[in-house]
Amino acid sequence: MNIAMGKDVVETVVEWIKESQKIVVLTGEELSSESGVPDFSSPDLNPHISEFRSNREVRANYWRKMKQIYPLLVKAHPNPAHEALLELELIGKLDCLITQTIDGLHHHAGNSNVVEIYSSVLWVTCTNCGKDYPLDKIITDMEKGKEVPECEECGKDILKPPISFPGQPLPHWEIREAWIRLRQCDLFLVVGANIDAQPVSSFPVIARENGAKIVIISQKESQLDDYADAVIYGKPTQVLPYIVKKVRESTPVS
Ligand SMILES: [Zn+2]
Repeated sequence: MNIAMGKDVVETVVEWIKESQKIVVLTGEELSSESGVPDFSSPDLNPHISEFRSNREVRANYWRKMKQIYPLLVKAHPNPAHEALLELELIGKLDCLITQTIDGLHHHAGNSNVVEIYSSVLWVTCTNCGKDYPLDKIITDMEKGKEVPECEECGKDILKPPISFPGQPLPHWEIREAWIRLRQCDLFLVVGANIDAQPVSSFPVIARENGAKIVIISQKESQLDDYADAVIYGKPTQVLPYIVKKVRESTPVS
């Protein structure tokens, strides 16, 4: 149901955002990659949880790879799409920012209401006793020669970021929070996210039950493009700042 088509689509979305009071945004990998965040989809970084727990070599392999890509993660900074979403919050339009990204860049940009449904790689938890460590401390320990990080509290070496590996459920609280927000929103804006797989593919359906419009901004096609009210194909870093600038020109900062 693409009711907004052609070159007027951007102007139509600007009007919808102006009319909206409670926007929920879902962001994803396209924002990360435009900030130079390394690709976290490699099999080395997604071992099955039971193999990770039982096989020290799988853990060593995981941490070798993490150490390798860590400098890229540290170098990544918020891009114009992140900054546009902060502006959307500052003008009082953004109710909640749900993200599939795991790089913490929305927090870094300054957004306050961020729900990380896949959690974050910036901290690491001991799966035995629950003690948390910043990722940079773990990487520093590895640079001193540690092959597999160990917990200072209990001595076990099964530490991992709280992101879900295959075989693990997604974080319960975050998904529940996303559903609650989606049920209350009047516009659901999907930006550079992958919405073809569950549970995220149900998000537009939940939002529409409340009468919300669905807008997708992405470089890629998705299975839900026909379901959306408007789809803008383009780079989030170019499209979103343009749209938010147009909205902001006619909306005072709250
Ligand atoms: Zn421990």
